[in-house]
Amino acid sequence: MVSSDTAPLNVLQQVFGYSAFRGAQGEVVAHVVSGGDALVLMPTGGGKSLCYQVPAIVRQRAGLGVTIVVSPLIALMHDQVGALDEAGVAATFLNSTQSFDEALAIERDLREGRITLLYVAPERLTTSRFLGLLDMLYEQQKLALFAIDEAHCVSQWGHDFRENYLALNLLHERYPQVPRVALTATADELTRQDIITRLQLQDARVFISSFDRPNIRYQIAEKGDARKQLIAFIQDEHAGDAGIVYCQSRKKVEDTAAWLSTQGISALPYHAGLDAKLRQHTQDRFLREEGIVMVATIAFGMGIDKPDVRFVAHLDLPKNIEGYYQETGRAGRDGLPSNAWMAYGLADVVNQRRMIDESPAHEEFKRNQRAKLDALLALAEAHDCRRTRLLDYFGEPSTPCGNCDNCISPPATWDATEAARKALSCIFRFHQQGGQRFGGGHLIDVLRGKQTDKVTQYAHTTLSTYGIGADLSEVQWRAVLRQLIALGHLQTEGEYNTLELTESARAVLKGEVQLLLRQPSESTRSKSGSAGRGSKGKAPPIALDAAATIRYNALKAWRAEVAKEHNVPAYVVFHDAVLAEMADCEPQTLADLRQINGVGEKKLEAYGTQILRALDMADSSAG
Ligand code: ADP
Ligand code: ZN
Repeated sequence: MVSSDTAPLNVLQQVFGYSAFRGAQGEVVAHVVSGGDALVLMPTGGGKSLCYQVPAIVRQRAGLGVTIVVSPLIALMHDQVGALDEAGVAATFLNSTQSFDEALAIERDLREGRITLLYVAPERLTTSRFLGLLDMLYEQQKLALFAIDEAHCVSQWGHDFRENYLALNLLHERYPQVPRVALTATADELTRQDIITRLQLQDARVFISSFDRPNIRYQIAEKGDARKQLIAFIQDEHAGDAGIVYCQSRKKVEDTAAWLSTQGISALPYHAGLDAKLRQHTQDRFLREEGIVMVATIAFGMGIDKPDVRFVAHLDLPKNIEGYYQETGRAGRDGLPSNAWMAYGLADVVNQRRMIDESPAHEEFKRNQRAKLDALLALAEAHDCRRTRLLDYFGEPSTPCGNCDNCISPPATWDATEAARKALSCIFRFHQQGGQRFGGGHLIDVLRGKQTDKVTQYAHTTLSTYGIGADLSEVQWRAVLRQLIALGHLQTEGEYNTLELTESARAVLKGEVQLLLRQPSESTRSKSGSAGRGSKGKAPPIALDAAATIRYNALKAWRAEVAKEHNVPAYVVFHDAVLAEMADCEPQTLADLRQINGVGEKKLEAYGTQILRALDMADSSAG
């Protein structure tokens, strides 16, 4: 069936305006077009959508019928369909926001073969009414492909488990002749195996892409005054940019958003406790307006494919590296420089450990969670390349990246082996003396030889360890304790977070373990500001001269009108990077315009003349 209409590369160029497939896309597309099953593991922003959209178009043109896309979130189908619509692809969705009549009309279009891609949520797909429709299409051989997006939702090991995804194994049982492609950005081995088993993808070809996101700069700062650090980070590096700030609790989300607003930043709160309508409205504003900072719990983000999120900040520690990578991965889908920034401190370690300890889960599950937390803590405490560690966690070898805080300004380290022994032996003495346990604050007071009420009350001046750590600052001591907890030599207990030695503390006490710590930085501000721009307002994604900047802004104004008219986010019309290239290259003719990456035939036809006119007017108004 390889006529020019059904050659995947032609479809890519004609419909989407891209010159070439990226990474594994070409291979995946060829495999799926020819009817094979596939499991596609690609990082966020890697280009998963085209892996099923191009095959869907090709197979529809070859007379094989419709592609059904299973997608977990109703809220996001709208923009995906909007983007396909802009590209001239017959796509639509079926979900509970539509009226009965609307749904009937779509079902008719479906039966009559007028739809290339249909998006549905799993709960819709498994209704008997919808299965009836699929049965009919199957009989007529008009079911081209099943695409299962966010496939990790089927796994209990994943972080977004959805009961409804489990039923998707019926696709294979009921429609064995229809190829399936499952896609996810969650890479770890356990989840991967789980997806294969549960969706019965044993015969699928597995495509694993590099999980590196080279345009994201990873920075992890020690927590001081976290709010001050956050505002400095936003003002220095991201004035006017869209971003996401993750916090652990709903209350902290609300407080932080309110506070950022008083600092002149357009911040909105988002968490599962807010009314559904308000949540939807907030999400729409984030997608449609420029420069909104979303302050959110992890309830926000899955499936958000806004390409120009310039930063993701964590004010609290995520649960594990999978979560951290997924959340930070929402930055920079468009491939332009972006930042992942986190502030992390002793309290984070203590909180996360306690949440695991106190959860009702069974012991094996807890053990697994603790191990995952440990890996994240090691990343946070690392003094070598963050990216190397992240990729290593996903089983991918790499070399130092040059684009993380540790690569850009390697942190000074100091040998904390002796200090760690002092701290542990002080805890040991507490025990010996009265069987008492104490928290970190008191321990540091004793080590530093301070005179407090508590020191007097427990006669701790008589301990041999009293004052043996006066040479270190309180900040240094906190770092030592944090590291000891992170490494599992110490654990915290009860509501006062009292400290207790673990089995492995013995080796540290004996001097068998060397402890090398990051030197606490003088300033907690982020130093590596090269992604920053300093000035207010959102700059073009590539460096443009004065005249080109005027053209760029004129194109943005034009785009805003089109987006509003079509009720889609601006990036669905064209990404910033596409507009910047237009402003830079100054196309004179439609043929010139066609050369720009991201301009497909439908958009050229719909907008080409308007764009050339907008460019012309910008030039003449500039004189
Ligand atoms: P994912 O779903 O894997 O997170 P998307 O499918 O949303 O990623 O793609 C991320 C971005 O990359 C999108 O803006 C998309 O238009 C762009 N993109 C994908 N494939 C290509 C390609 N072959 N050439 C140019 N841009 C591409
Ligand atoms: Zn690095």
